[in-house]
Amino acid sequence: MEKHEAAFYEKTDRGSVRCSLCPHNCRIQDSKSGICGIRTNSGGVLYTDIYGRITSIAMDPVEKKPLYHFHPGASILSIGTKGCNMKCPYCQNWQISQERAAHTSYYPSEKIVEAALAEGSVGIAYTYSEPIVWFEYVRDTAALAREKGLANVMVTNGFINPEPLRELLVLIDAMNIDLKSFRDKTMRTVQKARLPEVLDTIRTAHAHGCHIELTTLVITGINDDMDEMKDIIEFIASVDAGIPWHISRYYPSYKYDRPATDVGFIMKVHAEAEKKLKYVYCGNVSSQERGHDTHCPSCGATVIRRSGYFTKISGLDGNRCAQCGAELRIVR
Ligand code: SF4
Repeated sequence: MEKHEAAFYEKTDRGSVRCSLCPHNCRIQDSKSGICGIRTNSGGVLYTDIYGRITSIAMDPVEKKPLYHFHPGASILSIGTKGCNMKCPYCQNWQISQERAAHTSYYPSEKIVEAALAEGSVGIAYTYSEPIVWFEYVRDTAALAREKGLANVMVTNGFINPEPLRELLVLIDAMNIDLKSFRDKTMRTVQKARLPEVLDTIRTAHAHGCHIELTTLVITGINDDMDEMKDIIEFIASVDAGIPWHISRYYPSYKYDRPATDVGFIMKVHAEAEKKLKYVYCGNVSSQERGHDTHCPSCGATVIRRSGYFTKISGLDGNRCAQCGAELRIVR
């Protein structure tokens, strides 16, 4: 496999390097990899082991990312690699995020862009595992996609340093950022990351004008706590009450066998969030429950109906409410 030198690192002493792509800022000795497992020091040069290496590729509804306010009803070519800079023990995609031996196939950026155009995709989503640690390939592919009029979407944990984030924001049209917890202690002990840097990413992406939506997986015994949920609601409202928030139900996966999140609690959080936020959704719950459709925050009309991944735009005129004319936070 052709080696591809990594961006954002410096040589230190005795053949070591320091990677500055994400806030772990790993010091990596010769022949070793960083915490993400896919950036390797070889003879004092840091290489990305996953440039162009793809584990998963599919046309998905954009709602699956989840993005409910970005080209609703469209399909998007979705690609993922392996590796992650967090270590969530309940990861739903652990086979590719945490297993270094996961099988990959090589696709040059040009092939991905060609495939997206041939499929009539609205763009390319960098998803499934963590696209931050795929920085070089995401940047190169996104630049090519932008030239061809395609949108670029990242589904990310947001744990990235400011400089690489700024480089990506020039090219990325929309992001779904995981806000996994609002307790730094939880972020350090469970996800093996930190909270303040993720909050900075959310603020920076929003300030840059990138369309963002946030997702919180509510996990039994970890963050199913109303005080913590209220803190998240306050934080989102302090940035922009129009940012869509997806409250997602956890199911046992990987190393976690705790029972699935109580649906009643998800519904209580939804009701609490609706007091302060304009767009609140529930993920991984039955379509009989609340939290799937989009309502106009001004008049309450249902403007988008959803059932599973079936989306019906029922009350929009462009990005305005067809009933009262209010402008809605929807990119079409
Ligand atoms: S991207 Fe990987 S190697 Fe670089 S600092 Fe983050 S975890 Fe460490």
